[in-house]
Amino acid sequence: MHCPFCQYHDTKVVDSRITLPQNNIRRRRECPECNERFTTFETLQFTYPRVIKRAGYSCQFNEQKLKKGIMRALEKRAVSPEILEKLLDRIQCQICQEPSKEITSQRIGQIVLSQLRFVDEVAYIRFASVYLSFQNIDAFKTTISKLEDQ
Ligand SMILES: [Zn+2]
Repeated sequence: MHCPFCQYHDTKVVDSRITLPQNNIRRRRECPECNERFTTFETLQFTYPRVIKRAGYSCQFNEQKLKKGIMRALEKRAVSPEILEKLLDRIQCQICQEPSKEITSQRIGQIVLSQLRFVDEVAYIRFASVYLSFQNIDAFKTTISKLEDQ
């Protein structure tokens, strides 16, 4: 990035932060030549893999659907909007980093659970009960005890 003041060929990033939900990255830059500072905005473009459903068909990844599911699990839990945004961001990044162009809905569920666990245990159990659709109480108990072990 060229400096807009002296046209020096390089600038140093002194601070960057992501603002969700627009996925904008705000960067504070400084020119090492003239020491002027300026701000740039970049849009982070997520490219999601296709989602393979349990029934076998594939569909486009739906950010809204993911968000809704997570928010339902977090209903009435004391989680701030900032934490929710960071959580969604981490999950989205992890989904995008999958090596394949396809991802199973089960894998998405695992990714959500692995991140949700650190945010809120009740939400974790709620999400797990929907996503893993426990067949019986034993399957549920196994998940809870696994959670306790970790
Ligand atoms: Zn400069």
